[in-house]
Amino acid sequence: METASEQLDASGYDRSRLLGVLLTHAHWDHVSGLDGLQVPIWLNSGERRYAAEDSDGKVFRMVSVGHEIHEYKLNGPPYLGFESSFDVYGDGCVVIALAGGHTAGSVVVFVTVPSGQRYAFIGDLTWQLDGIRRRVERPLLMQKLADSDPGQLRQGLLQVIALADVMQIVPAHDRDAYNGIPRLPARLAPVPELKTAQHP
Ligand SMILES: [Zn+2]
Repeated sequence: METASEQLDASGYDRSRLLGVLLTHAHWDHVSGLDGLQVPIWLNSGERRYAAEDSDGKVFRMVSVGHEIHEYKLNGPPYLGFESSFDVYGDGCVVIALAGGHTAGSVVVFVTVPSGQRYAFIGDLTWQLDGIRRRVERPLLMQKLADSDPGQLRQGLLQVIALADVMQIVPAHDRDAYNGIPRLPARLAPVPELKTAQHP
């Protein structure tokens, strides 16, 4: 299995262009490639506190050593039914909305690509697309283990289900959910040298 930084390198992505890594939340299985990426980690204050204090933030505390933490504020207006948001570029192409429920500062990241296609990266609001298609929640015992606030999680999940007709919902743990997402451009072939035209 390649690390996140290896995958970026293999695709030819220039990592010096990376402004930071935006986390949906700070659980170990969403952060464990961070130690290989020396870029700022984007977190909101609620998730930063959760990551610092909760036993499930242990791996985050290890891999984030030496990283700058960029704390963004969710001080924008309600967005698609979520109570607060932050528009990263100010043009609506990447909007972070506070969902909570799974962890204190869990967010949904809404992305619109130039073709107009929209995506909602929902982290662990549900693990699989089944949760969206069949409107199923985690089993009760798993809710207790996995979620900080099952009631709030349910709200967020219903909110996202309501959006499923107008955008692609991407739970982090379902491979099929990633189908069709534009990939980083393949490594660019070197530009061939131009030959001077020979005139007879
Ligand atoms: Zn999680």
